[in-house]
Amino acid sequence: MSYFQVNEKCNGCLACVQNCPARALEAREAGGLQTLLHNMARCARCATCWRICPQGAVEFRHMLENRWDEVVTHVLVRCQVCGEVVYTEPLTRSLDEKVRQLVEPLCARHKLERQAAILSGRVPVAGGGVE
Ligand code: SF4
Ligand code: SF4
Repeated sequence: MSYFQVNEKCNGCLACVQNCPARALEAREAGGLQTLLHNMARCARCATCWRICPQGAVEFRHMLENRWDEVVTHVLVRCQVCGEVVYTEPLTRSLDEKVRQLVEPLCARHKLERQAAILSGRVPVAGGGVE
């Protein structure tokens, strides 16, 4: 959803586009339709559009929200012993490719315990044998 939002009173007069000092608003025409566009990277949040709009259509409060937008979501991988989150699935795949072996999903504490067990010969080493 855009930070720049207008309500149903907008009549497409384009006073906001013509008066925006940052050229953050644009109007495009295609297929018999006019579309108002806003570029947040250019916008100075100066509120000129809100002041100049003859219809009172600019819902400027959305521009002041300081909200967090979701960018990407990944599946989490948890320590196979205690369930603590250790990394994401794509990161696991990336690590797998780099070290060319399966990276065991273990938290720092259980990784240390695992290494201690391998060194003491209590646990077989991955790939066969006992150290
Ligand atoms: S100035 Fe107001 S009514 Fe005119 S196009 Fe912009 S938002 Fe819509
Ligand atoms: S807040 Fe200012 S810079 Fe941003 S779109 Fe409105 S007039 Fe342009």
